[in-house]
Amino acid sequence: MVYEPFARKYRPKDFNSVVGQKHVVNTLKNAVKLNRVSHGYIFAGPRGVGKTTIARIITKSLNCKQGITENPCGKCENCLEIDKGSFPDMYEIDAASNRGIDDIRALKDNVNYAPIKGRYKVYIIDEAHMLTREAFNALLKTLEEPPPKNIFILATTELHKIPDTIRSRTQIFIFKPIKENEIKEYLKSILENENIPYEEEALELIAKYSQGGVRDSASILDQVVTYSNANVTLKAAQEVLGVIPENIVNKFLKSLKERNIKESILFLEKLYKEGYDLNVFWKQMTDKIHSCLLNLSLEEKDDIFEKEDIKYLIYLQSVFNKAQIEARTLSNEKNVYELAVLKIKYIKELENIKDAKAVENKTEETISKPVLEKEESADATSYTAVDLQKIIMNIGKEAGTLVSSGLKKSKIDISESLVKIGVPELIYDTIIEKKDVIKKHFQKPVEIVKIDAPKKTVKKKKERDPAVDKVLELFEGKIINYKEE
Ligand SMILES: [Zn+2]
Repeated sequence: MVYEPFARKYRPKDFNSVVGQKHVVNTLKNAVKLNRVSHGYIFAGPRGVGKTTIARIITKSLNCKQGITENPCGKCENCLEIDKGSFPDMYEIDAASNRGIDDIRALKDNVNYAPIKGRYKVYIIDEAHMLTREAFNALLKTLEEPPPKNIFILATTELHKIPDTIRSRTQIFIFKPIKENEIKEYLKSILENENIPYEEEALELIAKYSQGGVRDSASILDQVVTYSNANVTLKAAQEVLGVIPENIVNKFLKSLKERNIKESILFLEKLYKEGYDLNVFWKQMTDKIHSCLLNLSLEEKDDIFEKEDIKYLIYLQSVFNKAQIEARTLSNEKNVYELAVLKIKYIKELENIKDAKAVENKTEETISKPVLEKEESADATSYTAVDLQKIIMNIGKEAGTLVSSGLKKSKIDISESLVKIGVPELIYDTIIEKKDVIKKHFQKPVEIVKIDAPKKTVKKKKERDPAVDKVLELFEGKIINYKEE
C-alpha cells in the first residue's frame, strides 16, 4: 500500500470538516444554498490555511451529481475526481510556475466552451499575485464580462499585489491563521482515527510551531509519527522540531537573573556542542523573557524573575532582540549571542548610571551617525567622506549592522587601485567574513588587515579585565566607576 501523507489524507473534503475559517465557510455555504455564488473570488491569507481546499469544496458543491448543494456527497464520480484533482472542469493553475500571458490567454478562449462533465467550470489560480501585468489584463477582460458557468478563484498570500481593478470585480475573503487549539483538535482527530497514542503536550507544541498553518501541522505530525515509531510523545516532538526543553531555557534565564556571565557563556557553549540550534534557543529564550515581562507587569509575579528585575528584563529584551536580527545576517551566530551576553553583564556594571534606553540610544547614535576622521577621507581618491558613509551604510544593509559599525571603527585608506581596511582585532573575523560584500560596494580590490585597537581603548591605566575593554570598544563608552571583584 502506498503511504499517503496526513496532509493529503486528512485534507478536509467538505465545509463541515474545514479547520477554522468559520466566517468564510458560513458565507460560502449560504451563497451555494441561495444560489448566489459569485463569478470571481479572491482568497487571501497565509500559506496552508485552507484556501485551495475550500476552492475545491466549492467546486464539489457546484458539480456534485446529487445537485448543487452545500453538502456535496463526496462519493459520486465528480466529487471523487475533484478530490483527486482530475476533474476536467476544474482548472488548477499555479501562477508561480505557469506565469505569463499564454495560460491566461488559453483560459480566455476556454471560457467560451460549455463545461465538459459538470455544471460549472472552476479556475483556481494559486499564487495569483505572481501573474504578470499582461496576464492580469487578460484576466480582467474576462472578469469584466464574465461568461456564464465560469467561476474564478484567485488564491494569494499577498493581496496587496493584486491590482485594484481585479479586486474590485471579485469578492474578497481574508483567511486567518488557524488558532492553536483548533490545530490541536485537528491533530488529535487524525491520531485517534489512526489509533496512534499521543501526549497532549506534544500536540500543543506542534500546534504552536505550525504558526497557524494547518497543512504544516499535519506534515510535522507525520514526521513525529515516523520518528517516534507511532508514539507521539512531547520528547519526540521536541526532537523533531529541534526545540530546546523548557527546563533548559529556564536554567539559562536563572543564570541571567543572577547576572552570572561566566555560567551563561558556558551554557551557550554547551548547547552548541550538544548540537542544539542556537537560533532556535535564542528565539525560545527571548519569547520567554517577553512572557516573564508580561507576567510581572500584569500579574505581578513570575516563576523566575522578580518585580525589581523589570528594568533589567526590558534591557535584556532590547539587546537580545538586536542580537537575533544580527545573527540572521552572520554565519557565526554563537559569537553574536556571546557578545550579547557580555554586553548586558558589563553594561550593567559600568552603567548603573542611566537606564537601558540611554545606552541603547548611544549605540544607535554611533551606528547611524558615522564619524569620519579627517585623515581618513583626506587621502581618499575620488571618494568624499559622504560617499564613504553611504558605502558603509549600504554594506550594512546587506551584511548587517555589526559589519557597518565595525567598518566605522576601522581605518580605511582608499587609493586609486586599492581599498585598505585596518580592522581592530576584536571585529576582524566579522569583517573578513563579509569581504565579498565589502569589495562589491567599493568596486575596487580590497585588502583587510588586522590592526591594534583604536587608541582611546588601549590606554589602560592598570591591568583590568579585557572584557571591559571589549565592551568599551563596542559601545564607544567611558569608564565611570570601576571596581575589582
Ligand atoms: Zn457528489
